[in-house]
Amino acid sequence: MRDDFPVVNRPRGKSVAPRPMQEIACRRCPNTDAISAAAGRLPPHTAAVRFGQRGWRVIGIGKHVCPACVAAEAARKKAPQSESIAMAPKVTPSPTPAPANENAGHASPAASEAIVILYLLLSDHYDKARKAYAEGWDDERVAKEAGLSPVLVAERREKDFGPLVKDTTLEDIAAATLVLAQEIAGLEGEIDALQRAAASAITTCGRLKVSLNALRKAQARLSAPPVVKAA
Ligand SMILES: [Zn+2]
Repeated sequence: MRDDFPVVNRPRGKSVAPRPMQEIACRRCPNTDAISAAAGRLPPHTAAVRFGQRGWRVIGIGKHVCPACVAAEAARKKAPQSESIAMAPKVTPSPTPAPANENAGHASPAASEAIVILYLLLSDHYDKARKAYAEGWDDERVAKEAGLSPVLVAERREKDFGPLVKDTTLEDIAAATLVLAQEIAGLEGEIDALQRAAASAITTCGRLKVSLNALRKAQARLSAPPVVKAA
């Protein structure tokens, strides 16, 4: 059976050795995300919670949906008329020209300009090698500065620049620490219960020994040869 969150070795740069990561992949786009497996692989439900916290819709093997696609879907549901912007490139052409579309010739000058600004901002502030924005930048800020929707920005960035891979070392350590602390707390509880059970068994055993001794004495008394009755 295929693994839900397979462990892969992710490169971290030229001078640093790759480290084992547990990876999730989007069903709808090439997006992937990963959490550290350096402290051992997480149980599937823990990994699912972690990815869920990052905005993934964790459904099942081969069915996960990334935050960008979740956002795109939400935007599509909220505003069906902007479907052509948000996602599907193969929608049938509508009489109203879709702004900021693939075919810049059809778009309004303002929309084309916004797209140009978008690409300028992305080339300035998105690092393809690191697969990350420069400090202080994200899809939302680019969207705001270009006057476009964050969904559109995410889509263009994914398609023409690259995915967002966050350095999650600190989060990963925090999560591993939490998991370990919980495991220790659980074991301590079990040890405590065992110690109490042992103490109780020792007490019971002592009490039973006293009873046993009393019974043995009674037994000895009763099985002694009968005393000859005085005439
Ligand atoms: Zn996706």
